[in-house]
Amino acid sequence: MLSTRLASRRLAVPARRWKHTSSRPPLNSVTADDVAHFAKILPQNAILSTLPPSDLHASDIDQYNNDWMGKYHGNSTTVLRPQNTKQVSDIMKWCHERRIGVVPQGGNTGLVGGSVPILDELIINLGNMSKVRSFDPVSGALVADAGCILESLSEHIAPHNHIMPLDLGAKGSCQIGGNVATNAGGLRLLRYGSLHGTVLGLEVVLPDGTVLDNLTTIRKDNTGYDLKQLFIGAEGTLGIITGVSILTPPAPQASTNVILALPRFENVLPVFKTARLHLSEILSAFEFIDREAYDLAVKHGQGKALNEQDVEGAECFVLLETSGGKKEHDEEKLTGLLETLLEADEPLILTGVLSQSPTQFASMWRLREGITESVSKEGKAYKYDISIPLAAFKEVVDLTREHLRKQGLLHEEAVKQVIGYGHVGDGNLHLNVIAAAYTSEIQAALEPFVYELVASYNGSISAEHGLGAMKAHAIHYSKTGVAVDMMKKIKELFDPRGIMNPGKVLEF
Ligand SMILES: Cc1cc2nc3c(=O)[nH]c(=O)nc-3n(C[C@H](O)[C@H](O)[C@H](O)COP(=O)(O)OP(=O)(O)OC[C@H]3O[C@@H](n4cnc5c(N)ncnc54)[C@H](O)[C@@H]3O)c2cc1C
Repeated sequence: MLSTRLASRRLAVPARRWKHTSSRPPLNSVTADDVAHFAKILPQNAILSTLPPSDLHASDIDQYNNDWMGKYHGNSTTVLRPQNTKQVSDIMKWCHERRIGVVPQGGNTGLVGGSVPILDELIINLGNMSKVRSFDPVSGALVADAGCILESLSEHIAPHNHIMPLDLGAKGSCQIGGNVATNAGGLRLLRYGSLHGTVLGLEVVLPDGTVLDNLTTIRKDNTGYDLKQLFIGAEGTLGIITGVSILTPPAPQASTNVILALPRFENVLPVFKTARLHLSEILSAFEFIDREAYDLAVKHGQGKALNEQDVEGAECFVLLETSGGKKEHDEEKLTGLLETLLEADEPLILTGVLSQSPTQFASMWRLREGITESVSKEGKAYKYDISIPLAAFKEVVDLTREHLRKQGLLHEEAVKQVIGYGHVGDGNLHLNVIAAAYTSEIQAALEPFVYELVASYNGSISAEHGLGAMKAHAIHYSKTGVAVDMMKKIKELFDPRGIMNPGKVLEF
């Protein structure tokens, strides 16, 4: 039944060109002379190079050359860690002149191979640019260096009763510049919208070293093209973001969460609709976790939200959060919702547990946020963050599992598990295939299979992680030829020499 449905879907999708690895334009490698030049711009401790006369070894810069998943590996000889915008500008002027490829790098938590070189490009890591420039507690406008860690920004504004408009599992390592460069979504998007709405202004160093100062804190500005939008989600292919101005919302006075165990996936949609109706403006997150993802998170100690008897017979789970102004009022609404869900003729949920303390609140979130980490502890992950209609979440996971089974790849030595979880409120499913190792056989079984499947639902092959090196070749599955041509013209305009994060987002 599953395969019949898939076969008819696949017929509807035009054949596409596909290849696994991304390539990049011919560019110059960094030489010892270049490093000597960088030493005129930066202090010695901001330059990590394995080129002679340095006595550093490749292993000393491993952390910059390899991505978070251990899937993508660069071969750079040199990492620069500038402290201010002028230094970034001077470095870029030199790289532009010399045609040296450059990879901007934040916290290196990206999941599509965008933050590490394809070959030996120079890495510019923003970690030393970590100053908060200003915060206005009245408007909530925060201006910070691009290298500030997301969590440290949250801590900076917490005493003023403000929160960052985005939150993600990687918050302890990812940087605000990396967040903007990937247009990161995360757990608060349902409530506060995307960075295209909350970013007020950016300071960007362009590929030729020019500084584009667009770091405004005003909310309304209709003077011409809104250039900052081009850099949000450009994954470092148009310039290096060095400063970010972002609107931070007031902290909710009361936040509560509840975990729901559902007997059937088909109940997710009615539960979502009922929750929106009952909770309206206080609903701030609605996260879906399938049974296999839940068990995996529990197995790896990522929070324990429900008792064993509560999860018996549950096919999936929903983590729901409210953020409002008055605890009693919000809890009353949540209790009303739980009663409705449980008291229907055919109850939509098996059980629902309301957090009773800040510790329990955090533990429930840990369960959801910890899935990514659990997946990487379990094996090597093929990660697909896709936008598809909510009703198709389970079908896509089932079809992928079935497809791998048919290929003879669903066993402990190849693919161990196929799981699904994600941001229901945003129509974003994380489809994760957990394997014993990254192999070309599994890769070939998954791609273009997954991309074709997503296209058959008119979905997006990247809901939030971006294209990076992983999906640059597959952009056509979600964008028309006209749109891709326009993007190539924009890239050419900003970066005629093709030095900015080469081979990422757009195929060379
Ligand atoms: C545990 C975990 C959970 C995650 N959860 C989510 C989630 O819920 N939602 C989500 O959207 N993502 C998520 N991610 C992915 C990742 O954390 C985000 O994409 C994050 O925004 C990347 O930030 P970073 O600083 O680590 O950037 P990096 O990984 O260093 O870089 C990512 C991309 O941005 C570019 N870049 C970085 N800094 C700059 C800069 N200053 N200027 C220009 N380009 C730059 C890089 O070249 C690269 O292409 C998760 C990752 C992990 C490991």
